[in-house]
Amino acid sequence: MDKNHKSALSVMEGVEQPDQINAELVKKLKSKRAKPLMVKDYVDGVKQGNRTILSKAITLIESALPKDQELAQLIITECLRITNYEFTPGQYEEIRNPKSEIRNPKSEIRNPSIRIGITGVPGVGKSTFIEAIGKYLTALGHKLAVLAIDPSSSRSKGSILGDKTRMEELAVDPNAFIRPSPAAGSLGGVARKTRETIILCEAAGFDVIFIETVGVGQSETTVHSMVDFFLLLMLAGAGDELQGIKRGIIEMADAIFINKADGENLTKAKAARIEYANALHLYPPPESGWTPVADICSAKSKMGIEKVWETILEHRKITQKTGYFQLQRQLQNRQVLYESIESELRRKFFANPKISAQISEAEEEITLGRINPYQAAQKLLDEYFGMLL
Ligand code: GDP
Repeated sequence: MDKNHKSALSVMEGVEQPDQINAELVKKLKSKRAKPLMVKDYVDGVKQGNRTILSKAITLIESALPKDQELAQLIITECLRITNYEFTPGQYEEIRNPKSEIRNPKSEIRNPSIRIGITGVPGVGKSTFIEAIGKYLTALGHKLAVLAIDPSSSRSKGSILGDKTRMEELAVDPNAFIRPSPAAGSLGGVARKTRETIILCEAAGFDVIFIETVGVGQSETTVHSMVDFFLLLMLAGAGDELQGIKRGIIEMADAIFINKADGENLTKAKAARIEYANALHLYPPPESGWTPVADICSAKSKMGIEKVWETILEHRKITQKTGYFQLQRQLQNRQVLYESIESELRRKFFANPKISAQISEAEEEITLGRINPYQAAQKLLDEYFGMLL
């Protein structure tokens, strides 16, 4: 055949391709595997805002393995040293202007963070809203972490943060960090992990922390107990019952924003705003000195997004003046004490080999009706605490 004849069937000689595997990288990864990261590596990495290390540290927090847990606690203790500082009155200016060069001499961190809880029924537009306000905030120079609390995440579909279709722009924003809910577990467990994740994110320099709840029940109370500001997103034209929002949740809200206030929905949203504003005024003024507000927004057209942020800053200004901001964080810290004790007791109890063997026996005894569950539980607890004496 003619050498120069070109046919789609003939094999071209081609250019030599580089090796698919980067030998240097493999070497590096292998050496990393051989040498696990130490507490200092984690803490330094987190402090430098290294996202890979931050993610790895969060994975340790979420791990059920005792040795990971131990390491995680040491990292958290170190990170708390970075973020634990006192508020001074002048700091408000720093908060408003994250690019400011003023630094708090007592702390290594640029700014005190603000923790914001966001809740609302599935479909209200939480992820669209977080994406809109998130982009707005990163453009202002803020660093934003988005965490989720969803103890039912393994069962629910579509509404999980971390779902690839949610917050597409924010997910690739270098100043945003999105972390899906830890794997399903008890609400207490998930809450504890979220609190610890907040500490790590703050140590990594994230100054705005969003905590989203996907659930419509108990998890709101949990989120409320770990944030400075609680935002409730609502829809117009649906009664509270229809939206699955309980009165208690409305009472907890520092602001209610009626989302999807666009197009034909705008008039309805405006009417709903007045209704909610009236409802909020029925509650006695809270000790914080802040009167909750009701307003409208459209996450889609970005209308009202700036207003939400202004409201959050205004709330912070007022509650810092009344001292409620600091008080609330102190109370939350006290709650962490109890949560930590409970979860550590639980973990140690169930990890005890003698107990775990006896639990299986107890289960069987209960099934056979030989012992009642209360007696069985008491017996196991006596046994466990007896071992410690
Ligand atoms: P989530 O389940 O609360 O996170 O809600 P999503 O953010 O996934 O939004 C649910 C649906 O509502 C999506 O189809 C969004 O495009 C739409 N949506 C969200 N915000 C708005 C808004 O402000 N206006 C309108 N018209 N639609 C919106």
